[in-house]
Amino acid sequence: MTHPSELVLAPTREALVDLDAIRHNVRTLAALAAPAETMVAVKANAYGHGMVEVATAALEAGAMGLAVLDIPAALELRAAGIDAPIFAWLLDDEADFAAAIAADLDLGISAEWQLDRIVGAQGDRPVRVHLKIDTGLSRNGATEEQWPDLVRAALRAEAAGAVTVHAAWSHLADASPEDDAEALRRFHAAVDVAVDLGATFAKLHLAASSAGICEPEARFDFVRFGIAVYGISPFDNASGADLGLRPTMTLSAPVASVKRVPAGQGVSYGLTYRTTDETTLVLVPLGYADGIPRIAGGRASVWLNGRRYPVRGRIAMDQFVLDVGDDPVELGDRVIVFGPGDQGEPTAEEWAGWADTIGDEIIARIGHRVTRRYVP
Ligand SMILES: *Cc1c(COP(=O)(O)O)cnc(C)c1O
Repeated sequence: MTHPSELVLAPTREALVDLDAIRHNVRTLAALAAPAETMVAVKANAYGHGMVEVATAALEAGAMGLAVLDIPAALELRAAGIDAPIFAWLLDDEADFAAAIAADLDLGISAEWQLDRIVGAQGDRPVRVHLKIDTGLSRNGATEEQWPDLVRAALRAEAAGAVTVHAAWSHLADASPEDDAEALRRFHAAVDVAVDLGATFAKLHLAASSAGICEPEARFDFVRFGIAVYGISPFDNASGADLGLRPTMTLSAPVASVKRVPAGQGVSYGLTYRTTDETTLVLVPLGYADGIPRIAGGRASVWLNGRRYPVRGRIAMDQFVLDVGDDPVELGDRVIVFGPGDQGEPTAEEWAGWADTIGDEIIARIGHRVTRRYVP
């Protein structure tokens, strides 16, 4: 039988999102990139933070527009009443171009078939298209060979009243400075080819966070800032704090079990950790299903009652264990998995180091069982 107090103590795994930090970061980045404008990437549910809330905060802080991955995400923003420019660029065979036109979206166009579909949709207004050249990342975007035909097709669609050729754009590989310089050169060359074919672009855009921060010549008319808006550095050799950015998410959960065990007690699957003395084990109800990387098991630590404790044993699907020695810990005490780092708690960037990944992956993978709460 379930004891009533256990119902009350059902774990509230929480990602607290600091919207003021989002606004601070947008203002900081916008000031840095000016006179280029700032578009904020809210793809992947705003890197796990909640798309509508972050989008609203970003626009309040002066973002010119929003970038999402695909049309359904953009429609969700429109349904929430957001009327700022919304740019979507991953348009597959199932994409609903008619809905995109009706919602007045900006579309990133990489292939002629996408233009054919727009013309075929017979919308009641021309849709703004941003023609994408592949400058070396090898994802979407027209190759150098396809580019002239893509431009010609866009100009035909423009003449037919189906599109407005609004922008040319690309995305960098964030590899070496030489690679980025080569991508920049290819971008300029593609724009020149298009202009020779008769195109006029109101806007050019290339940079995301990395080049937006450190390559002024890549900023053009606007920068599509993503990860930096969430207070995480795009660079290995500088933290978000070094860049004047504030982390925006604090992940926490209440202690779900506290128990004394003897020396020699094995902990979690595989019993890879054994207690050395009689001690207290504490259970944290977050696991890899919530986005806690399993690989960080032997390395990570978390913040509890004013100090750090290493994660002991393997991180499981739903939970992990701390060995707190003889320190007093109560059921329900809050474990901070990561946060801004101001008090000594780990940051998402620190977790990225423990998991051999980037901070982007740490925040974007926080799962559905974690409740998002917002500090206005
Ligand atoms: C994700 C993404 C961005 C934002 O990138 P960050 O590195 O997170 O700033 C911008 N543009 C495109 C096309 C993207 O896919």
